[in-house]
Amino acid sequence: MTKVRDETDKFFEKTEISGDCLIWKAAQNKNGNGVFRTNNGRVVPAHRWAYAKFVQEIPPKIRLTQKCGNKLCVNHHHMELETAGNILARNSVRRENGCIEWTGHKLNGGYGQVGFGGKYILAHRLSYNEHFGQIYDSICVLHKCDNRACINPDHLFIGTKTDNNRDRHMKGRTLFGRNLPFAKLTERDVLSIRALRKTGMTKSAIARLFNVSRSAVSSVLSGRTWSHVT
Ligand SMILES: [Zn+2]
Ligand SMILES: [Zn+2]
Repeated sequence: MTKVRDETDKFFEKTEISGDCLIWKAAQNKNGNGVFRTNNGRVVPAHRWAYAKFVQEIPPKIRLTQKCGNKLCVNHHHMELETAGNILARNSVRRENGCIEWTGHKLNGGYGQVGFGGKYILAHRLSYNEHFGQIYDSICVLHKCDNRACINPDHLFIGTKTDNNRDRHMKGRTLFGRNLPFAKLTERDVLSIRALRKTGMTKSAIARLFNVSRSAVSSVLSGRTWSHVT
């Protein structure tokens, strides 16, 4: 009976220390990462194997990159999961006006776009999801600051597709509601509040989202205030 070699031993036999890095000396894939055949016959990227073994399981379709820049390095201390937070931080710059502008790929309309989790997503939408939690695909993420490249979560709000169109249409006009003394909400906020309520969000949650009192949200929903907005 032949004894099965310990998988971890087998793994480290294929590596060599170079400075802080642990360099893979065996087969590579076309991306330039090392590949490792596990004891059950699966062939996997070596750095992913090491990270899953010594740090944590990798969520499906999430990339793992080497912070040291060496694609053959399998030192799990040098690795970073390509999380939404990392992507957003690495591809943006803060402007004096408070906007955090996406510096990565942009669509013709000016919105940032990024591949994440195996699909393409608008950068500001990724930012919204990251900070406030995942929202339904049918809900739009809109800008308060009218800077389409901005991913600052404080400059984003949600609304329906109709709001998105209306938003473009109304841009530049003076809004009646905004001219009222002490009006904290904008017309766009009001439309968003109504849309969110329809999705089943509680009044308290909506109030927190827009930084107003629960009674202000109730007034909007009952039509006591903002009834001119349709
Ligand atoms: Zn390294
Ligand atoms: Zn902004």
